[in-house]
Amino acid sequence: MNDNLLEIKDLRTCYKVQDGEVWAVDGVSINLQAGENLGLVGESGCGKTTIIKSIMRLLPKKAFCEGEINFKGRNLLNLPAKEMRRIRWNNISIVSQSAMNALDPVYKVGDQIVEAIQIHRDVSKKEAWSRAEELFNLVGVDKSRLKDYPHQYSGGMRQRAIIAMALALNPEIVVADEPTTALDVVVQAQILKRIRNIQGELNSSMIMVTHDMSVVAETCQKVVVMYAGKVVESGPVSAIFNEPYHPYTMGLKNAFPSVKGEKFELISIPGYPPDLQSPPTGCRFADRCPFATQLCNEEEPEVTEVGDHHHAACHHLYKVEEMREKASIRETWSKVSKELA
Ligand code: SF4
Repeated sequence: MNDNLLEIKDLRTCYKVQDGEVWAVDGVSINLQAGENLGLVGESGCGKTTIIKSIMRLLPKKAFCEGEINFKGRNLLNLPAKEMRRIRWNNISIVSQSAMNALDPVYKVGDQIVEAIQIHRDVSKKEAWSRAEELFNLVGVDKSRLKDYPHQYSGGMRQRAIIAMALALNPEIVVADEPTTALDVVVQAQILKRIRNIQGELNSSMIMVTHDMSVVAETCQKVVVMYAGKVVESGPVSAIFNEPYHPYTMGLKNAFPSVKGEKFELISIPGYPPDLQSPPTGCRFADRCPFATQLCNEEEPEVTEVGDHHHAACHHLYKVEEMREKASIRETWSKVSKELA
């Protein structure tokens, strides 16, 4: 029996631009089970936010999707707009990146949460206010602050208020789009801890969109690594962190401090993702990959199972040990940098 809460099958999302089309998401398949947290990682422009907008059906007018996004067996892409509005917030809610922009500056925060609850639920203002108090308790903000305006909050408090709002209707899935990117590391750590605790209490699922591998390590059980609109590696967090198979994942891992505090040299991946208006024929990572061969430039690698629920798309998986060793050395990436210059 299929026990996936959300099942994305071969999703392709296209933006129509002045002189053509950009397939920002190109053949992505992702599964999410109840109670599971999934991290969607990759650099800016790799397609993470487009996947989220596709799920929520919040794409701009000049964009369209192909494939399937099945939520509890129903394809969201085929639902009438009215039905989709009901699913948003009730079943799938979103914590956006910029808390300041998500809150209306002229309304008190509590009134905004109450309004969101009353739009979707037939409850009195008193009941909705009481729910808002419960939510503030859950996210660690004193309930008296519900009577304040957004500008009276710190950045961390605003983000907590947005998380409270996203949880207001007990959604089955919370989508968090870079929820801690704009915050300093101390507040980020507090918010991540709070998110983990809330997950334990509510048993909701989460899709955490981030470019930061350490955020995923702290909050998720499963990771999907995106590059240039495609999934290049996916699997359990421990497998991806301890035994990455794709050179891009190895590079991403190098670029972030260890969450366990182990000391190692931080190395960034040189270069930029390709222009998706005319993507390369072969592996999309080839011009930045220190292990690229002619085959990589000519043929797109297939997704291969490399472990338990662990998949990667690379032509040279057979020499993964050698790639891991070399990928941890700065000189390996410096050579790429010189070639790109
Ligand atoms: Fe690098 Fe080739 Fe693997 Fe792509 S297929 S990641 S270019 S080794």
